[in-house]
Amino acid sequence: MSEVFNISAREASHACIIATPDEEQRRAAAWRLAAAFVCERDGEAPCLKCAQCRLAQQKLNPDIIEISRKTDDKGKQKRELSVEQIRAMVSDAWVRPQSAERKVYIIADAGSMNSAAQNAALKLLEEPPAYARFILCAESAESLLATIRSRCVIFRPLGEKEPTESEAAREYLSLVAKGDKTGVCAFFARAESMDGEALAGFLEGLRAELCAVLSNKNSNSAITRETAVRLLDMGRRAEDYMRLNVGVKHILGMLCVRSV
Ligand SMILES: [Zn+2]
Repeated sequence: MSEVFNISAREASHACIIATPDEEQRRAAAWRLAAAFVCERDGEAPCLKCAQCRLAQQKLNPDIIEISRKTDDKGKQKRELSVEQIRAMVSDAWVRPQSAERKVYIIADAGSMNSAAQNAALKLLEEPPAYARFILCAESAESLLATIRSRCVIFRPLGEKEPTESEAAREYLSLVAKGDKTGVCAFFARAESMDGEALAGFLEGLRAELCAVLSNKNSNSAITRETAVRLLDMGRRAEDYMRLNVGVKHILGMLCVRSV
């Protein structure tokens, strides 16, 4: 069905992002994961044999709700998922599932939510009812707000690499966690060829990683909450500098000095 994604329900959290430009692929992966969430059997899920899985396969499971963009009077699909649709989901999420143990929302085209809609979903993603699961489908995870991303496990097709920004942010954080001052300085010396856009990407990746630490999502991070708060503040200052057109080299210098 969707073997390009290696998604197991066990790795999934209450909120997941399935990110790929291929719409068919992400929809298939989302439905498969939804079936896994409602599957009644133990062991490898979805079993595709139990009553819940069968209903899911026929897209008739009342506890799997797909939310997609509405169509206008002319039958054309609207550009955005509306904030009203998200608000409706938020209140519906507090109604218990009908027959499955879980209630799953598949948000198709999650990337088409404007920031008002994303913010309307945020609190629910932070503190959902225990039975609720959310699967956000998007062309790329980066089309969603960092606050949303930091609450989700992100699935990309096998073999597709994460954006290099997050990799760089993770490498940097592991150096900070070790208190490796020399390593941090070497890291920024290597980054000297970075342009403004790359630096902005790095700062965004850093913010997402730190938010994950603070929301307890990234429990295996060696970064303490205290350090995360401090680095978030440092990152914000760097972003302020960027807005003031301070040179990239100066900002890298500042980051180097304040990191450890
Ligand atoms: Zn099943």
